[in-house]
Order: sequence, then C-alpha cells, then structure tokens
Amino acid sequence: MNEQFRQALSVIETLKRHGHEAYFVGGAVRDYLLQRPIGDIDIATSAHPQEVMAIFPRTVPVGIAHGTVMVIERGISYEVTTFRKEGRYEDYRRPKDVTFVRSLNEDLQRRDFTMNAIAMNEYGEIIDPFGGVEALKQRIIETVGDPAERFNEDALRMMRALRFVSQLGFSLSTETKQAIIRYGHLLQHIAVERIAVEFEKLLLGPFVSKAIALLVETNLFAYLPELATKKEELIKLSSYSLVPVDRIEAWARFAFVVHFHREQLKNWKLSNHLIRDILICLKALEHIRSLTDWTIDALYEYGPYIPHIERIRAAVYDDKPSVHSLLKQWEMLPIRNRKELAINGHDLLILFGKKGGPWLSEMIENIERAVLHRQVENEKEKLKEWAMCNQKRENNC
Ligand code: ATP
Ligand code: MG
Repeated sequence: MNEQFRQALSVIETLKRHGHEAYFVGGAVRDYLLQRPIGDIDIATSAHPQEVMAIFPRTVPVGIAHGTVMVIERGISYEVTTFRKEGRYEDYRRPKDVTFVRSLNEDLQRRDFTMNAIAMNEYGEIIDPFGGVEALKQRIIETVGDPAERFNEDALRMMRALRFVSQLGFSLSTETKQAIIRYGHLLQHIAVERIAVEFEKLLLGPFVSKAIALLVETNLFAYLPELATKKEELIKLSSYSLVPVDRIEAWARFAFVVHFHREQLKNWKLSNHLIRDILICLKALEHIRSLTDWTIDALYEYGPYIPHIERIRAAVYDDKPSVHSLLKQWEMLPIRNRKELAINGHDLLILFGKKGGPWLSEMIENIERAVLHRQVENEKEKLKEWAMCNQKRENNC
C-alpha cells in the first residue's frame, strides 16, 4: 500500500471500529494497481450517510441522496459512499434514486468497468469478483456484466470507455466495442455537460489519437454535439501526434481541426471563459501557419497564449514547436500589454486639454504601436512629445 492509502487507513479503521465494513474502491485502486499516480481516494462502506456523519468530526454532505459524504481527516478529504445499487434506469440515464445495500459485491456490480470494480481492504488485500485485475493485465476495458445492458442503463458509460482508452491506452473488449457500435445512438439522451466532462478527459489523455480513432470506428462520434458531419476532420485529428498540455490547448486543437466556431463551442456548453480562451487561439491559428508568421504584432497580441498556439501550429503543420524562443522574443518586446505604457489616458487628456472621445483610444493605440515597433522609447516625456507630434501629422517631426 502506498503513502496516500496509508494516510486514508484511519477512515477505514474508524468505520470498522464502529462495526461497519469499509474498503478502498474505484479509480484509486485501479491506478494503484497500474502503478500510476492516484487521484482522489474513494471509500465504500456499509454505513449509511447519517452514520458516517455521526462517526467523523469533520464531514460535508456532498451527495447524501447518492449516499456520499465527504470525510475530512488531517486536511485531506475522502468521498465515503454507502454500498448501493442503482434504482430503475430511466431514459438511458443514471437513475436519481439509489438503494443502499449491505454487501460490497452488490456495490461493485453496479460499477461500469471491471477495472473500476476492484476493492482493497485495510490490509492491502484485493477483492475482485469480476476479474478486474486480469483485465488490467490484459489492458482491456470491459463492462461489468452484459455491455448492451449496461449501456442501456447509462449511455454515458460509452463515453467513459473511450476516455479510459485515451487515458490508459487500453483496448475495448470485443463485446464492449460491439455494444458501443450498436447502442451509440443512446448517447443522444445524455446531457451535453456530462458528455463534455468525459470528452475533455479524452482530449487530454496521452492516447487521445487512439481514442479519436475509436470514436470514428465505433461511429460514436456521430452522436456527439456538432460532430456528425466531421468524420474526415476527426480522422485527421487522430493522425497527429498530440501531447496534450491543458484544457485550453486540448479544446483549441480539437476545435481548430474540426472547424468549430463560437456557436459550436456554445453547443458543447463550455464556460464562456473557456470559449474566450479557445477563440483567441483559433483566431491566431487562422493566420499563423509557419514560424515566420509570428510577427511582432502577433507576439504582442497573443503573448500568454503563445505556448498553446505554437504547439498546435507545429502539430497541425508537422513542424517543430519553438515555444521557448518565441516566449523569449515576447519577453524582449518593449511592452507586453497596454498597461506597461509609460503614459495613460489621463496623461493625454491633460496634455491636450481636450475632452475624452474616440480620438483618445485612437491616440493610445498609435502610441502603443509606436512603442512596440521601437519608433519611440517607452518613457513619459518622450511619449508626450511623440503624441503632440503625432497629432499634427502635417508637421514633419
Ligand atoms: P478518475 O481517476 O478519472 O477519477 P475514476 O474511475 O475514479 O477515474 P470517477 O468518475 O471518479 O472515475 O468514478 C469513480 C468510480 O465510480 C468509478 O471507478 C466507477 O467504479 C464508478 N462509476 C463512475 N461513473 C459511473 C457510471 N456512469 N456507471 C457506473 N459506475 C460508475
Ligand atoms: Mg475518481
């Protein structure tokens, strides 16, 4: 057991002392067995939420209806969820109501993939009723039970399967793949926001090319927002060797290759903030195709986005990215943004003794360009002089 699990042991031990069963479950156990860095630790227990809340001094009822209580121990939070099975599934979505059960096995049975249905007790012993360990060995993603049934219960699981392909580089079992081909259309019943969460993880995975190729092969892409007509673009996307860095870059690269604009991004229900960042990258990528397109004006305009834009440009045009040298060039510009100008609007109002108006922003823009292109030094008195001169352009100064 590693340090993270050892730290979490007290949660399990406390539950057991109170007469309940408790196990580590889910992604953390899977990643531990794969010797990957583990994320949040989830614990499954026979204790009901009210019992969990009574036992631990610091808890947050994050999802009582689903049996989940967050327990905070020594500053670390753990999701403690009561053994449960899910109620009736309606409309191919996860059910709202759940039934608490008293056995671990039933809880593991409702989980999506065998590799996600492994539990570990306080001694580090593995409980694996569905062959998850073998699936990890074979690097196979397979549903717990009949995939057709499981995807009909909750169609999002098909997206989850592909995002795990992207994260782990595993393959789908034959049955699981066949069921995705057959039931992909059920994805239409799933809220876009939930699809987007899984899709973003897919875009960020190290094996994203493999996952995108599978999206096409299984035809699942046809049921994703705005992608039904984008088969060729997706095939192209899967051909790039992509090393994802962050969500802006992942979405921008995707959006650039499949020709998304604001409207399509909005239909993916992405946040306005994220859409703004993506659109800045897209605007740059429209005209920056080779290293020489990085003019002084482009460096200045896109400054903080240079790494994203440059890596995407290089991936798409089969070039070597020059992030480091471009960032250096950006840093060496006389100014990096308007705020660094040694003169401001207030100074100009006083200088010209005029009321504000369109002339003012035009003047600031002119000064900005002149400083950027080193026609004048970024020094207050010099800028004032330049501004006066610039105003009466007829004077040859
Ligand atoms: P990650 O490391 O990305 O968090 P994870 O496996 O922990 O991966 P979560 O979405 O956090 O994924 O879900 C935690 C666990 O809950 C899963 O491992 C799985 O056992 C179960 N689970 C999550 N979503 C579903 C679902 N739609 N259907 C069935 N089981 C699910
Ligand atoms: Mg998780």
